Amino acid sequence: MRIFVYLLLLFAPYLVAAQEATEPEFGNEAVSPEDDTYRVLVNLFDGWQLINYAKVGQNAVVGGDMVLGTHAEIQEQNLANLLTLLGEVDRSGFTDGDTGSLLDDAMRLLENTPDFKAATQKSTQLWPSKRIPYVVAASITDDELKGKIQTAINLWNTMTIIELVPASAGERNVLVFEDAAGDGWVCQAWLGYYSSRGGQIEINPACSQGAVIHEIGHALGIMHEHSRFDREQFIATRPFAESSPNYQTIGAVGSRTTYDLCSVMHYSNRQAAADQVPWFELTEAGRANFNSCKAALPPGCRQVGQRCTLSPADVAFINAVYRDR
Ligand SMILES: [Zn+2]
Repeated sequence: MRIFVYLLLLFAPYLVAAQEATEPEFGNEAVSPEDDTYRVLVNLFDGWQLINYAKVGQNAVVGGDMVLGTHAEIQEQNLANLLTLLGEVDRSGFTDGDTGSLLDDAMRLLENTPDFKAATQKSTQLWPSKRIPYVVAASITDDELKGKIQTAINLWNTMTIIELVPASAGERNVLVFEDAAGDGWVCQAWLGYYSSRGGQIEINPACSQGAVIHEIGHALGIMHEHSRFDREQFIATRPFAESSPNYQTIGAVGSRTTYDLCSVMHYSNRQAAADQVPWFELTEAGRANFNSCKAALPPGCRQVGQRCTLSPADVAFINAVYRDR
């Protein structure tokens, strides 16, 4: 018995290593605490939406790892949007009994005036060109993390029409890979392109290789696949999911023809579930969906929430939205 224990101790590190090598890689993107959340009217990719976000530090974060702007900016825009909307649209058809919160009222008015555009509203945007200059900030000193960034960049550049290229000295509005230590050691990205600052991905050495790949997707303007409005056909979620900044459905730029359970932008059913209880189960249509796409993934990566590579639908989607840019 004693010899067996010695042998076990001797080989334990190798057993752990072997297990890690066969585990599919999942993301370890951030999950927002939900005790400080806000409901606002925003314009994402020229579509009006009421969404919930979590205030994390100074930032307004949706989906756990997508920054929409600073909390102050988003609150200011929200107020401007509401005042513009409620001031300019004829409300005579509504009685006080129809009005709930100001936000719900605004949304109802929007639905009745689909061509309304508020000139003051800043819309989250795609990058102006598929050629995107990037900088790895000097704050990132960890060689392994630098390697993960380069591997992720190579993946996007090889598999899609996106060209992430080192920025020239002094070039403005670039994608910055920034050390996230000051923001609580998260793996997160500003969603899409901001005309005032370009884009930013905030990562740290604990971010997995797959998380860096995933965050570049957000920086290009891709939302989470599991936040699509049609998700319930494919994943049955726990009841809390719809009202949560982390799990809500939310509109996106363009649209994929088919829900994609193989996407690098989909979470696993345990990811982001703080209590480690699965937050969704695949429906019958979901199982069929996954079975039809998983063969395209490398062996060992055939899991919902994989972070090994881009799925064929990820590639088709990004190529479609950036084709003419
Ligand atoms: Zn994400």
